[in-house]
Amino acid sequence: MNGIPKGRHSGASKAECRPFLSSTERDVIRLVHEPGFDRWLDQIKATGGCENPVYLAGYTTVQRAETGEILRHYSTENEPGGRMPVRCRNRRERRCAPCSYLHAGDTYQIVRAGLSGGKGVHDSVQHHPRVLVTLTAPGFGPVHRATDSAEVCRPRRNGGLCPHGLPVGCPHRHPADSSAPGRPLCPACYDYVGHVLWHALAGRLWARFCDGLKRCLASMAGIPRSRLGEQLRLSFAKVAEYQKRGAVHFHAVIRADGPDGPNAAPPPWIDTDFLENAVHSSAATGYVQAPFSSATGERKIVWGEQIDVHPIRGEHFTGEIVTPDAVAAYISKYITKSVSDAGGLDQRVHTYEEIAYAPVNPHIRALMATCWRLGALPEFESLRLRPWAHTLGYRGHALTKSRRYSTTYGELRDVRARYASESIGASDTLTDAAWRYVGSGHTPGEEEIARAVSHELRVARESYRERVTDE
Ligand SMILES: [Zn+2]
Ligand SMILES: [Zn+2]
Ligand SMILES: [Zn+2]
Repeated sequence: MNGIPKGRHSGASKAECRPFLSSTERDVIRLVHEPGFDRWLDQIKATGGCENPVYLAGYTTVQRAETGEILRHYSTENEPGGRMPVRCRNRRERRCAPCSYLHAGDTYQIVRAGLSGGKGVHDSVQHHPRVLVTLTAPGFGPVHRATDSAEVCRPRRNGGLCPHGLPVGCPHRHPADSSAPGRPLCPACYDYVGHVLWHALAGRLWARFCDGLKRCLASMAGIPRSRLGEQLRLSFAKVAEYQKRGAVHFHAVIRADGPDGPNAAPPPWIDTDFLENAVHSSAATGYVQAPFSSATGERKIVWGEQIDVHPIRGEHFTGEIVTPDAVAAYISKYITKSVSDAGGLDQRVHTYEEIAYAPVNPHIRALMATCWRLGALPEFESLRLRPWAHTLGYRGHALTKSRRYSTTYGELRDVRARYASESIGASDTLTDAAWRYVGSGHTPGEEEIARAVSHELRVARESYRERVTDE
């Protein structure tokens, strides 16, 4: 059992070293002496070393429908503790690294299939016009920037003060991993209301952007908007990324297909440049009106000025390689991140006190408190700002995609499950199963062992990848 820690004093007897062992090490020793340890270790390996497995107990019996012959029977009766662990499947790296890598791998497959084909998508999709788009939130007030050693944060030769008496410039340098980048120069000047309303309406702004994109394409092609669907369908996959300042921006793949989706050829009049122009024009003109409130006045929700559009052509473009593989890797990297990587919380808050005492920086706390305050107003009820205070008002999923983009997480999981079990024709069998939840998580010793398992698997995966790349 290589790589499985047995405590620093392995080899010595339990009685001799007990006073020098931590409680975790004692727990590891207890575990390795349990009768079902080897089987349990195999199970943990099967979960990839999941950090927070869910334990289930029960059975599944598969019988041939006609004869009643038992084809497969599995029960946790003889498993260690009468139970079996399954993956937590959390996508967040901070919650469960091994499951987040699996999820990122699935995201990679989904995005890549939509660009290069495979997983039920025809290879001809490679020739459809595709762009990688980044859409940002506008500025809500000056924030400190991460700088390299040569530049300062916000140089101002003649100084100057904001209405609250704070300097409008910042002569300092901030390393990217310091606490300053993303924090406002003056919290009182910062538009917290604008920031959380933008988050709360970002989903609608995206929907408006997609509508606008179709309208632009129709007018550029000289056909009525209502008839565009007869020639063309747009598909997308997008992720949201929290920036340092706590505002999300979107990275999206947008692809033009024929009327029947990825397996149909797009009309001859559309190419990548055409799509790129339509993206710019829709992003520049699209907006959403926030609900009116006497507390916040009229608010128009628009995109920030920084709009990047890169054609995905599988060739060098403005010095960067925007290939399908690079785009899939880029998008799937963000799927393991969440608001907690920008200093926020992964769990919902239920009272104002939880915000007041949350282990977050003052900027994030102010954003959460603004959600809480505005969330009490009836005119903002539909924005559900209080239940989403922990995500700073943003309610979107990590990955959103249109129905016809490519495959789904569910399909990828099904394929994996079918691959893992024996292949039995589903139509002529009967399945009887009963499962119940019996607990979750690790004891300190189990956690230590699971960590070693996931580390070992990761090293094996990386060395395999290096070997493949070398070849
Ligand atoms: Zn997990
Ligand atoms: Zn600064
Ligand atoms: Zn100020």
